[in-house]
Parts: sequence; C-alpha cells; structure tokens
Amino acid sequence: MDLSTVELTPEQQAFQQEVRAFLDEIVTEEVHEHERRTGDGFNEGVHLALGSRGWLFPAWPVSDGGAGLDRVCQRILALELSRREVPMVTHSTTGLVWSAVELSADPELAARLKPEVAAGRVRFCLGYSDPEGGSDIAGATLRAVRDGDEWVLNGSKLWTTGAHNCQYTFLITRTDPEAPKHKGLTMFLVPLDSPGVEIQAIRTYGGERTNAVYYTDVHVSDTYRMGDVNAGWATLQGPLSAEHGAGRPDDGLSDIGMTMGTREFEAAIDAAARWAKRTTRPDGTLVADDPAFLDRLGHLVVETEAIRVTPGPMGRNKSSLSYIAGIAELIDMVGPEALLAHGSEGAIEDGVIDYAHRFAQGTATYGGTTEVFKGMIAQHVLGLPRLNLPGSKAWVR
Ligand SMILES: Cc1cc2nc3c(=O)[nH]c(=O)nc-3n(C[C@H](O)[C@H](O)[C@H](O)COP(=O)(O)OP(=O)(O)OC[C@H]3O[C@@H](n4cnc5c(N)ncnc54)[C@H](O)[C@@H]3O)c2cc1C
Repeated sequence: MDLSTVELTPEQQAFQQEVRAFLDEIVTEEVHEHERRTGDGFNEGVHLALGSRGWLFPAWPVSDGGAGLDRVCQRILALELSRREVPMVTHSTTGLVWSAVELSADPELAARLKPEVAAGRVRFCLGYSDPEGGSDIAGATLRAVRDGDEWVLNGSKLWTTGAHNCQYTFLITRTDPEAPKHKGLTMFLVPLDSPGVEIQAIRTYGGERTNAVYYTDVHVSDTYRMGDVNAGWATLQGPLSAEHGAGRPDDGLSDIGMTMGTREFEAAIDAAARWAKRTTRPDGTLVADDPAFLDRLGHLVVETEAIRVTPGPMGRNKSSLSYIAGIAELIDMVGPEALLAHGSEGAIEDGVIDYAHRFAQGTATYGGTTEVFKGMIAQHVLGLPRLNLPGSKAWVR
C-alpha cells in the first residue's frame, strides 16, 4: 500500500486555491445552519453553484457539463468538499443512479437528462427499501402493472432519502409476483411530481431527514423503464456495487475503504482535544495534561486512521463499529457536557460531540447493515459458505 503524499504541480496548487476561494463564497454559515435545521444532506444553492462549474461530475468532459478534471484535481475537489462539510447525500445518490441511467435507460431519455443532471437541476434518489424490510432488497413488493404504453404503480417505500429534493426516484418494483423473487423485478425512473406520489418526512435520531413515499395508481410511461421487464435485479447491480464501494480507480487517489461518518467522528475528536486544552479539572490541572485522557484520545485518533486504511466491505463495518464505540468512549472522557446539543447553553463547540454521537447510530444501518456486511465479508471475502438464516431456502447441516 502506497501512503505517500502527492506532490502538486503549480497548476494543481492553483486549482486547489480556486476551489477554496469558490467554497469560501458558497459554503456559508447559512448553509451549515440549513443542514442542521433540515438534515437534508443537500443544499440547492450549493448544488447548483457546483453544477455551474462542472464540479458535480468533474470527470465528465466539458461538452457533457463536467469539468474534464484529471484524477488529482478530482481528488483535490473531493477533499475540499469534504473538509467544508458540504452536504452531499443527494449528490451521491444522483451519481449512483446515473451509472444505471447511462447503461439501461432509453438513450433519448438519458441524453435529455444528462445536461440537467450535470447542471444540478435533475437529481435522483434511491427507492429500494420496502417498509417490510430493507436488507432483502429483492423481496420488494411495490407492484407495477402494465397498462398499454404505461405502468401503474401501487405500494410504498420507506427511507427514500432526498425524495423531497429530487425529480426522480430509482424505484424497484415487482412486475411478476409468480416468478422467483430475483426474477420478477423491474426498475423505473419515476418522476416524483407524478399524480399519486405522496412524500412524508421522517426525521431520524441522528438528525437526518428521510422519507416514506406512497404510490397510489401512479401512471408511468414505459419510457421510464430502466432495463428489461423482470430484469431489474441486473439493472440494480451497478448502483448497488458502487454503493458498496466497488469500481473505485486503483490509482491511490480514491478512499481506500467505504467509510461511514468518519468525518463526523474526527470532528468530535478534534473538538474534544480543543476542549481539553482550555478546560481545567476541579484540582486546577488542565485536562490536556492528563496522560490517561491523552492515551484514550490517541487511541481514538489511531482508530480513525485504521478506519481510513481498511479496505472494501471491512472498511464499511470498521468505520461504523469503531465510530459507535469510539464516540461513546469520547463522551465518557469528556463527561455529560459532551451531550449538550447544538444551541444549548454550555454545548461544546455548538454540540458537535452530541451530534456525532447521534449520527453514529444510523451508520450501522443505511447502505446495508453491519450484520448484512458481516455475511458479505464471510461469503465474498473469506469464501465461507453462504449465511443461513430463518427464511433461507436451506439450512446448512
Ligand atoms: C438514515 C437512513 C437513510 C436511508 N436511506 C435510504 C435510501 O435513500 N433509500 C433506500 O432505499 N433505503 C434507505 N435506507 C434504508 C436502509 O438501507 C435499510 O434501513 C437497511 O437496508 C436495513 O433495512 P431495514 O431497516 O428494513 O432492516 P431489516 O432488513 O428489516 O433488518 C432488521 C434486522 O435484521 C438484520 N438482518 C436482516 N437481514 C440479515 C442478514 N441477511 N444477515 C444478518 N442480519 C440480517 C439487520 O441487520 C437488522 O438488524 C436508509 C436508512 C436510514 C436509517
């Protein structure tokens, strides 16, 4: 593994300065306040501003609405966006869906959508999880029934994050209830302003806004079908694998693993370190001079480094499980003050530790739970037999 730093050329340094100056302008305190208030993982002004520079899809050629950036400049941009805590959830779901649109959508539809996606005016969310269970994606029950050149959708989805800020949802539907479950699915890009679509807000304990979405006699043109009828499982594989961290260029300029919430974890550790430097104990000693405190803090910093270098699906689990355990440890080190929320009197750095603690809990669930990932690691990385659980077709004897 090569962990050396990349020497930036003068042009790349100039690009870094350009990005920083641009973000200084657009990522204001109001943007962060909006995110705290809404939990949207999205800010329309920032999204459109990035789109206007071609920086939503910076690798795309300029003629497609991108910026034609080389890999180093793409990395510079990604790191700067992360450091500024730019809300990027909807950007990320849009990118995941786009890979499927390009491969499976009607070419005219894809050509019409591409410049709009690049500019930030068209955005996509993921309509995967059923209310009955999100882990078993292939068990989707939302029905799509053919009606001439259209399909009629009935059912509901839970946890469609960003639906209220998106124009389309990438929806898993059941088109053949008689077929084996993986063979009766069809994917659609459903316009969210269609009559019969109702979006209801859900606010999580971690402060994220997600949604329940109800579909009642929603008519969708066959033009919006993604891939063949009953071949939805194949259409879904690209976006699912990408969400699970596959397909990243192996050039040392991508994150090594798939991390969940590491930025929030590091922000909390940094806040605790600053707090320790300005806080004295009742006996008058500075917390930052306490070797036991420093030892525990150092351990957490090492954990964040370990998270960042743990590859593949192990990285997904390491990041979430170490974050959940580590943030609890941090609260124990700082004391009850750490749990004062944003806006409360005495909150440490505006409640950053409390926020990180609440945010940590959801990281074990979305994008596939840590339990499901343990099964994937066992099967696909360690080559162990497929996990057998109640409901599986056969038990291992
Ligand atoms: C904040 C947030 C945002 C989300 N955003 C989206 C989104 O945008 N789009 C979307 O479609 N979904 C989204 N999800 C849903 C998420 O993907 C699901 O919550 C997740 O896949 C788990 O599904 P479930 O909650 O229905 O739990 P279930 O699938 O009902 O699982 C219940 C429990 O059983 C365990 N379990 C289930 N199957 C297995 C197995 N095979 N092996 C071991 N253990 C198992 C699980 O780990 C869990 O503990 C979001 C969820 C959250 C919390």
